[in-house]
Amino acid sequence: MPTFVHTDKCDGCKSRDKAACMYICPHDLMKLDKDGSETGHAMRAFNQEPEQCWECYACVKSCPQQAIECRHYADVVPLGGSVQPQRNAESIMWSIKLRNGNTKRFKFPVRTTAEGSIDPYASKPAADLAKIGEPGFFTLGGVQKPGKPEELIRK
Ligand code: SF4
Ligand code: SF4
Repeated sequence: MPTFVHTDKCDGCKSRDKAACMYICPHDLMKLDKDGSETGHAMRAFNQEPEQCWECYACVKSCPQQAIECRHYADVVPLGGSVQPQRNAESIMWSIKLRNGNTKRFKFPVRTTAEGSIDPYASKPAADLAKIGEPGFFTLGGVQKPGKPEELIRK
């Protein structure tokens, strides 16, 4: 179920150079309504295409105001329940509110490297698109186990 924005909490990320939710959404769904012409709420973000939201929680975790929430499936989180993360540079705290009003909190470390320092392609060979049809494409040479021809889907 898609995300929605609590307009009383969202501040449009005005103290930042960009809206965190817009920046992070892999589907470009979050949008800042700068002048309020689209939602009636100026400088508040909204999910512009809720039916396309895949509930990845990236925007929910990134929002510095905890202004974004996911609508949950009623069979997973019955009416009145909520799942809300609060993230900082080192950990994420999940607050699970049950419909009877009880809240449980779970805290986990989020990273082992400094924020913003990850280089996901470091030490990997550059992709050779001429090999795109080969099994094991973009894996390190010699590391991949050759597939058994009789088990390969693509021969
Ligand atoms: S939950 Fe994921 S897909 Fe949905 S709006 Fe947020 S970042 Fe985009
Ligand atoms: S990240 Fe949060 S505070 Fe920033 S624009 Fe989006 S909903 Fe508003």
